[in-house]
Amino acid sequence: MLTAELLRAMPKVQLHCHLEGTLRATSFVNLARKHGVALSYRPHEAGPFPEDEPPADASDPYAFHDFEGFLLAFAAVSRSLAEPDDYRLLASEYLEDAVAQNVVYAELFVSPSVWLFFHKTIDVRACMTAIREACEATRRAHGIEVALIADLTRNFGVESAMRTAKLAVEMKDLGVIGVGLGGDEAHYPAEIFKDCFAFARENGLHCVAHAGESAGAASVRAAVEILRAERIGHGIRALEDPSVVRLLVDRKIPLEVCPTSNFLTGVALGEAPHPLVDLDAAGCTVTIDADDPAIFKTTLTDELVYAAEMAGDDALVRFTRNAIEASFAPAETKARLRKRLEAFSLEG
Ligand SMILES: [Zn+2]
Repeated sequence: MLTAELLRAMPKVQLHCHLEGTLRATSFVNLARKHGVALSYRPHEAGPFPEDEPPADASDPYAFHDFEGFLLAFAAVSRSLAEPDDYRLLASEYLEDAVAQNVVYAELFVSPSVWLFFHKTIDVRACMTAIREACEATRRAHGIEVALIADLTRNFGVESAMRTAKLAVEMKDLGVIGVGLGGDEAHYPAEIFKDCFAFARENGLHCVAHAGESAGAASVRAAVEILRAERIGHGIRALEDPSVVRLLVDRKIPLEVCPTSNFLTGVALGEAPHPLVDLDAAGCTVTIDADDPAIFKTTLTDELVYAAEMAGDDALVRFTRNAIEASFAPAETKARLRKRLEAFSLEG
């Protein structure tokens, strides 16, 4: 019987969580007020919006209806984060929530391309230092280890992605261990970012990419074969082509699956079992995360419970074990994480 206390006590590993997307709604409203920016973001180039569309409501600033609406909500949150103290607050609140759920190891996405888009003169290194300091303080107090992955963000194109890849290399001393590729997958395909990923890899960074979320199986293949991504964010649409599922299984490329995110952005249908069940059954290495938990009003614990409801109670531990193995943690950290999970499994 999985009690709430047992679920909380299970050690957890987080591999697909965007730090900006963990900003609590109340903090978002406060930061937007502090910097005098709106709670919603509507770029001209995003196409026509109904003129009577109400502005985001302070009681529910994270309301959105589809994938594009989600990207705009993420943009609005990022615009409210304008200086190092904001990032310190963001990280501190994330860490408080992570400790409460017994997250013991996390690789978090940060999106400096988006920060720079909204705040041309922002001191990225100072913001990352603030995040790192908050992480270090929590590591000393609670033992949680956090590494960072700089998302190159498709929507700003190749030049911006290369600039961010260079920034990522320069910030290895602040705990940056890799680069990722989120954003508008349908309009900015993996292949145009090949050189950015090669540069990051040659400079000692891990490479992961969102794929098979808002675009189909070919996008997953491109992320694996062209970008040489070591893990795929989402990847659920790999199921549209059995040869791509085989590719993931043969090359042991783990998937970071975020069920609620997929339902709310409309890339998975709410009435059907989530594709994670078929991916798991096909032999893919499935890991579970919450993507942007505050924006999606969920938590890692909720996502694990939900995944286990579909894939069986043993999936809780199995998906967590997958996440330990799929992580980029050093061997000694992985060994420690395995032991903690084993101890939990025995108790459970
Ligand atoms: Zn994501």
